[in-house]
Parts: sequence; structure tokens; C-alpha cells
Amino acid sequence: METQIELMELACTIGNQFEFDNVDMIELSKIMGIEHFGIESIVSPDGEFVLTYLNSGFTYISVICKENSYGSSWEINDCGSWLEEKEREFEKENEVWRCGYCGEFTPQIGNWNTCICQSCKRNITTGEFSE
Ligand SMILES: [Zn+2]
Repeated sequence: METQIELMELACTIGNQFEFDNVDMIELSKIMGIEHFGIESIVSPDGEFVLTYLNSGFTYISVICKENSYGSSWEINDCGSWLEEKEREFEKENEVWRCGYCGEFTPQIGNWNTCICQSCKRNITTGEFSE
């Protein structure tokens, strides 16, 4: 019996060979019995990249997905890891950190563990309010 991952790998291979669009990939997944709740997308913090994926209902589960960047193809990745990578790139390029409490990006002032979020006024790592 083939696992969901093996089925997804096969679907990606077929999808890339025949240049499947989103609708094609949804149909193929249905035929192959790959479980998902439809197609969704997430956007990178800079708004530059979009990951389209077959929603499994879990953030850190490998799914069939495709990034909108040049030369991208259908692949297996999890949305959580993809977004974290894009956030790290955004933080580095813009010298900001994402606040662990409100989710906003705030300028990197001082150290990561003492930085106060400009949006919610909490310490971005401990959540304690500043003076
Ligand atoms: Zn905050």
C-alpha cells in the first residue's frame, strides 16, 4: 500500500511533467485519494511570494504545494516551515523581529530577548509589559 507521501510525490511528478494548474492538481489528488480540504494560499511577509497548497488541516504536515516564484514546480513541503523561512528572511532584510505575542514585526532594538514590541509594548519573547 502506498503512503500519502508516496502518492503526493507521484502527483507532483505528474503535475510538473504536464504543467498542471491548481484545478488540475485538485482533480488529480481526488482521483489518487490524497486527502485535503481544498486549495489555499499564504503570502510571505514582504508580499512577494505566495505558496499555494492543498490544505491538510495541519500547519506542519507535508502537503502538495507550489510557490509563485520563477521556475517553481509542484513539490512537497509544509506551510509552517515555508512561512517561518520567509519570516526569517524578512526579519534579516528589514532588521525586524516578529513579536511572539501580537505577531507584528518590530524594529530590532537591543537583544532579541529584551526587545520591546512597538505595537503591543510587550517583551517579544517573554510577553511582559515594559515600564
Ligand atoms: Zn507585539
